Amino acid sequence: YCSEVHIALTGHEMKDCQGPGNGNRRGQHEWVRGTVNDVLIPIDSYHLYDPFGKRIKHEQRFDYDRIPAVVELCIQAGVDLPEYPSRRRLVPIRMIGKKVIDRGGFVVEPKRSTREQTALLELDTYGLNISPDPPPMPDSELRDLAERTLEAWETVRGGTAKLMKKYSVKACGYCSEVHVGPWGHNAKLCGSFKHQWRDGKHGWQDATLDEVVPPNYVWHVRDPSGPPLSFPLKSYYGKAPAVVELCVQAGAMISDKYKPMMRLDIVIPDCEEAKLVA
Ligand SMILES: [Zn+2]
Ligand SMILES: [Zn+2]
Repeated sequence: YCSEVHIALTGHEMKDCQGPGNGNRRGQHEWVRGTVNDVLIPIDSYHLYDPFGKRIKHEQRFDYDRIPAVVELCIQAGVDLPEYPSRRRLVPIRMIGKKVIDRGGFVVEPKRSTREQTALLELDTYGLNISPDPPPMPDSELRDLAERTLEAWETVRGGTAKLMKKYSVKACGYCSEVHVGPWGHNAKLCGSFKHQWRDGKHGWQDATLDEVVPPNYVWHVRDPSGPPLSFPLKSYYGKAPAVVELCVQAGAMISDKYKPMMRLDIVIPDCEEAKLVA
């Protein structure tokens, strides 16, 4: 019913569900099997042939492809993907402050229909997870995979942060929409609370790294096969980005960066003791 993610064999018992009907369930979450997209939250944005070109109008929103924001950022930074052409300028744009003085004129954008179907859009990250379970992997291979996944996560986060210093990325202050480019777009699809006051217009601000590559914090489970995390002990538990938690449970080493937030130094009392404390 809500966006809570928990990485363990069973869900946790913290009654903090904010989803619809949570009153009837007394705040209890209703756990189902998660997918890749629950661990790594997809953040898509419009692909722009020329990010310094004309702003996307609401009526034109279907003329643009939606691709992962990180991929769009990399394209704008120079990665060539034939299916997503990008204007490469020989003469840099002249700007004074935030005002564009000379963008080298507008150019006709290549038609989308001529582009070949893209492998990127066809990658069904959801389908991957509903396919039957793969055969069990030996522990050592699993640990290796977890280490590599964790490394890739750090590479993507670190690289995105660096690219965002050079290429501007905007995020809506009201919803999770992200736009890669010097200004936002005008598609009126903001679905946040009170959006009717703004006619569905997004409120653009400079994006933070967490808005482009969300860490998606989850509770850290020290013993994945142990009893479920319980509400009375909430203050003893730590958190970690979902992908980090997943990799750690699969045997990856915990890097020093995450140790404090995972609260590994704290001794978790058993349930009975906690009741005495409470
Ligand atoms: Zn819930
Ligand atoms: Zn919005």
